[in-house]
Amino acid sequence: MALKKWSFHYPVSGKMNLDAFLSTHYATLNYLLEKEEGNFAAVTKDGWELGRKAGARFFIRFSDDIKKYGKDLNGLAKVLNAAYQSLSGKKFDKVAVEEGVIVFEDYKCPICGDYVMPEEFKENGRVCIAIDGIFVEMCSLAGFNAESWETKCRAAGDECCRHELKITAKK
Ligand SMILES: [Zn+2]
Ligand SMILES: [Zn+2]
Repeated sequence: MALKKWSFHYPVSGKMNLDAFLSTHYATLNYLLEKEEGNFAAVTKDGWELGRKAGARFFIRFSDDIKKYGKDLNGLAKVLNAAYQSLSGKKFDKVAVEEGVIVFEDYKCPICGDYVMPEEFKENGRVCIAIDGIFVEMCSLAGFNAESWETKCRAAGDECCRHELKITAKK
């Protein structure tokens, strides 16, 4: 029954290579950190933007299916979780749809993995913020304007990486 397990997974995202993604991701974060002279809040914003652009490029080919399955918050929660799995190799540990917000939590997030931020960056550092940019772009492909931010990050010492996504308008 392995096929059935993947039947939702592939139509909306295909499969990505985590090692290739992380190599680029960390190289980019380090580069930005040097460029922004240690301003991790600025790096986080840049990281979000990079995720958005990468999401736009990668997911455009799946836009019909993203639109088909992501008709409402519950549908989007599944679609985004499937996309996350195709990148990270696992689904979120918790996904909750509450009062117009989708909350995603990963207690063993493979994106930050064992990356630990230097103490001085912990307050503003959000290593997995590219996921939020990707999610916003996927919502756009589904026909919604959205906001998404990483509100907790394991690399900053939190117990999980937490992404909170809100639909702000239907396009
Ligand atoms: Zn993470
Ligand atoms: Zn994180």
